[in-house]
Amino acid sequence: MLLADIALIGLAVMGQNLILNMNDHGFVVCAFNRTVSKVDEFLANEAKGTKVMGAHSLQEMVSTLKKPRRIILLVKAGSAVDDFINKLVPLLEAGDIIIDGGNSEYRDTTRRCKELQAKGILFVGSGVSGGEEGARYGPSLMPGGAKEAWPHIKTIFQSIAAKVGSGEPCCDWVGDEGAGHFVKMVHNGIEYGDMQLICEAYHLMKDVVGMEHDEMAKVFEEWNKTELDSFLIEITANILKFKDSDGKYLLPKIRDSAGQKGTGKWTAISALEYGVPVTLIGEAVFARCLSSLKDERVQASKVLGGPRVTQFSGDRKAFLEDIRKALYASKIISYAQGFMLLRQAAKEFGWTLNYGGIALMWRGGCIIRSVFLGKIKDAFDRNPELQNLLLDDFFKKAVENCQESWRRVISTGVQIGIPMPCFTTALSFYDGYRHEVLPANLIQAQRDYFGAHTYELLSKPGAFIHTNWTGHG
Ligand code: NAP
Repeated sequence: MLLADIALIGLAVMGQNLILNMNDHGFVVCAFNRTVSKVDEFLANEAKGTKVMGAHSLQEMVSTLKKPRRIILLVKAGSAVDDFINKLVPLLEAGDIIIDGGNSEYRDTTRRCKELQAKGILFVGSGVSGGEEGARYGPSLMPGGAKEAWPHIKTIFQSIAAKVGSGEPCCDWVGDEGAGHFVKMVHNGIEYGDMQLICEAYHLMKDVVGMEHDEMAKVFEEWNKTELDSFLIEITANILKFKDSDGKYLLPKIRDSAGQKGTGKWTAISALEYGVPVTLIGEAVFARCLSSLKDERVQASKVLGGPRVTQFSGDRKAFLEDIRKALYASKIISYAQGFMLLRQAAKEFGWTLNYGGIALMWRGGCIIRSVFLGKIKDAFDRNPELQNLLLDDFFKKAVENCQESWRRVISTGVQIGIPMPCFTTALSFYDGYRHEVLPANLIQAQRDYFGAHTYELLSKPGAFIHTNWTGHG
């Protein structure tokens, strides 16, 4: 009897595509789904002519597997994952492996790791990015959890993952417990930031420079040949030049109200929870919230005035280069902040994270894939202990080179009244981070004044002092 290398539960879009990807790489996969009829439909259609096997029960599925058994769950995040785990455990033996490839919350993954460890089952929570296309032809995979599982799944995972450079897989072991899902969550947050930054550049081009869609598309195409070379810049150029069936551009017809599924919000919440100033992702989430207040904005636009100057009178070409540099500098800040959050989470949970490896995992196969991530990998290769991306020589010089343009874009945008939440927060972060002295001494004095919270003198670190600021007893 042919034994399957791995089983996959969940025959929705991601699961089906990942099975076909594994099949293409020579692995025998056994497919299962809660609604069992979908197994037969899949075998008769999408998986026809492949080596994919199907099971009509979990018992049957488990009986087809080589040991240690490897089972991937690609079902809706939440209780569906726990339900399947609870049903699988009695059918498995110590050393068998359950992998959750869904968008689970990292704390759930940590809990599941611990619960299953007590039962001898190795649990892996893997971020899977790249959507349907990625799952089919090469996703970015971010596995973490029980490390003993890694030697048993490494070959399959690295074979099916996206490849970059000279065939390096966008998949490596991330770390313990929920580290894989945490890294995936930060990836999604960074995706929110990258998208909002591009939107701000588009807004400036459209409303400050006054460009037409085909002209903007050409600029993004040009930018895609620079440091900004990335999937999101590429698709933005394609979106800008796309015409509807009536021959008119489609983009201006789309309602300017952005949706979200919540992973950007989770990143921002974690940043607040662990006290890391991941301001750009936070602003990107809030920008979507503000965009969704469409009806309120329509009302406000009739009532609230803006600046008198609404036209740009400078050199268009030079200003476009300024926007490109502002986007690049802001993007560097966003990634610096994302890696700060990863570093803090590693400290919080005792994870050992391979930051260069994480950059490589995002380098291909996922939405934020870009040439830029290769530079981040290089920075961590140069110094695995790098405290902050901005302190790496390459990024330090890159920001310095963009700085004047970045400031010009922000001042022009502010004067003309264009919202640029991510461009501006990135610059504020940069200016805050590079200041030896910030005005927080006044906050400490205020806190001590009204609440006797004490303060520390620069000259006496570690000693906490209270002052009677009013002279009253
Ligand atoms: P999905 O719509 O999130 O989930 C559908 C699958 O989950 C079906 O197999 C469904 O079984 C099963 N399911 C739903 N509720 C269940 C329950 N209570 N008990 C048991 N099974 C249940 O599918 P998807 O879009 O392919 O995504 C799968 C996972 O990958 C999700 O966690 C998603 O967040 C994550 N993900 C998705 C993408 C993407 O681009 N779509 C990208 C990365 C990660 P039935 O057929 O019986 O309903």
